[in-house]
Amino acid sequence: MTPISERTARVLVARRSGGMCEAGFDAEATEVHHRVNRSQGGTWDPANLLHLCHRHHRWITTNPRGAELKGWALPRGSVPGIKPVFMARWGYVLLTSQGGLIESATTTETTRRTA
Ligand SMILES: [Zn+2]
Repeated sequence: MTPISERTARVLVARRSGGMCEAGFDAEATEVHHRVNRSQGGTWDPANLLHLCHRHHRWITTNPRGAELKGWALPRGSVPGIKPVFMARWGYVLLTSQGGLIESATTTETTRRTA
């Protein structure tokens, strides 16, 4: 797979979020967060990204353990596409590299298109 550019990733993530904070669905999303930190090898794969409001981004930065429980933060070496993440609008989902999301129920998988 060709690595995705930052610019493309930002477009895909904004499309996925509809401009609303994906963690809380509480405010306008203004910041892009890396679930695996860039300093830990995290990439611009949309599955590794969350579109957040400032408040949630700051909360994740200051509460790494709580963030990890919700899949908002992942340890170095994680594969983001197979790690469920809590999104206020959808519950726990898996994020795709194409900017989509998949319900992470154990029995059924339904693709939801946000674009
Ligand atoms: Zn928020």
